[in-house]
Amino acid sequence: MDIVNLSAFELATAIKAKKLSSKEATSAFLKRIEETDGTVKSFLSVNTSALKEAEQRDAELASGKSGPLYGVPVAIKDNMCLKGSKTTCASKILEDFTAPYDATVIERLKAQGVVFLGKCNMDEFAMGSSTENSAFHTTTNPWDSSRIPGGSSGGSAAAVASRQAPLALGSDTGGSIRQPAACCGIVGLKPTYGRVSRFGLVAFASSLDQIGPFARNTEDCALLMNAVSGYDPKDSTSINRDSADHTAGLKDGVKGMRIGLPSEYFEKDPSAEGVKSVLEAAKVFEKLGAKVEKVSLPHTDYCLAVYYIIATAEASSNLARYDGVHYGFRDKDAKNLRDMYNKTRGKGFGSEVKRRIMLGTYVLSAGYYDAYYLKAQKVRTLIKRDFENVFKNFDLILTPTTPTPAFKIGEKVSDPIQMYLSDIFTISVNLAGVPGVSVPCGFSAGGLPLGLQLIGKPFEEAAMLRAAYAYEQATDWHKRMAPVK
Ligand code: GLN
Repeated sequence: MDIVNLSAFELATAIKAKKLSSKEATSAFLKRIEETDGTVKSFLSVNTSALKEAEQRDAELASGKSGPLYGVPVAIKDNMCLKGSKTTCASKILEDFTAPYDATVIERLKAQGVVFLGKCNMDEFAMGSSTENSAFHTTTNPWDSSRIPGGSSGGSAAAVASRQAPLALGSDTGGSIRQPAACCGIVGLKPTYGRVSRFGLVAFASSLDQIGPFARNTEDCALLMNAVSGYDPKDSTSINRDSADHTAGLKDGVKGMRIGLPSEYFEKDPSAEGVKSVLEAAKVFEKLGAKVEKVSLPHTDYCLAVYYIIATAEASSNLARYDGVHYGFRDKDAKNLRDMYNKTRGKGFGSEVKRRIMLGTYVLSAGYYDAYYLKAQKVRTLIKRDFENVFKNFDLILTPTTPTPAFKIGEKVSDPIQMYLSDIFTISVNLAGVPGVSVPCGFSAGGLPLGLQLIGKPFEEAAMLRAAYAYEQATDWHKRMAPVK
């Protein structure tokens, strides 16, 4: 049995049938991490008690406990609190911060018998699209180590693509799950805002942030969604409604589904490889019985500007807490309190985080608030309405996930605007609060994975996954494994 190539579902089934122990599964992934992480560099810390935890899961299984992911190992982005583990957000300012409690998603995973493999690399405070903004190291793309894995959840995506973990959690504020999933050739889902609790997720932009799953196929993605989603009274933006079973109906097909292709996402560069492969995917959906038509999301052009006003405004406020007093790094040489704040924040934050704090403070300051922040909020409403209008007549929207396949390390790092444009197809989904999933839909001429984004109605992740599953069955993109070189 080649353990690391098994899907999470296959692992869970083998563990349940006692053909494999959680300890055997966990040690296979730990070995894989040891063998490949010198190149891929997905992890910031590996859980040294993972094997012990797995042994405990095995004992619990023997005493009759079970669940859809019991004993299965999972990797976690390093911006989620796991009690007793370092939670650095890939920032110097939190380098020595140990989480004193569990995030709700972690609590849920623990209750369901999951084993934690470790914490994954990311762009500092989830600001970026390449993991190059990590204060510690850059993760490489498992398909080509000279390229970025995407970001900000690049470590989680690379871990799953390189079979260091069967599943991982990431967070997505403007594309940070879907974009790295596309770059690494795996499945990554951003849930509806309010579907998954943000309690214990280090806040970047609170009105946009959502935690979501990475997996190598849609079924595994649905299993992890089931495990982490649902109402949480500890998150005031969590929505109290029946939590859906994302695996029920997964195999029911797309007959009669109405799918929209937003012209604005296809017009800019109709020759792009990503665009072509999405148009091919649309044909597959038609063959499977869906109705595909052009639609319009007229405010698309404003998304990037609106996002970089709202996200930075919220970030400037959320990151005010890193002051050297509450927790985290404190500069020791300061002469007085003000000097301590300046030096702590000056040394603790990287340059992209500083840029965002300054931009956010600017758009919120007296005299500019109305012109920038308030205006952006109004345009955000228009963007949300665009989606509501399309969803009156359609069940799903299809777009490319990224404008290009994974770019070279260093290619965009000194040009913030170019970097921001990596999320041009994903940020509208966060602004509108709707769910989106990226699934593999082909390869570039250079052999790099391409992603198809499916956008669903609020709280209809299950329908979105049903379509993704149907597409996956009709193609074999998701079966191709990264060579890890
Ligand atoms: N790349 C975008 C940014 O830097 C999105 C990041 C994210 O989704 N966390 O803001």
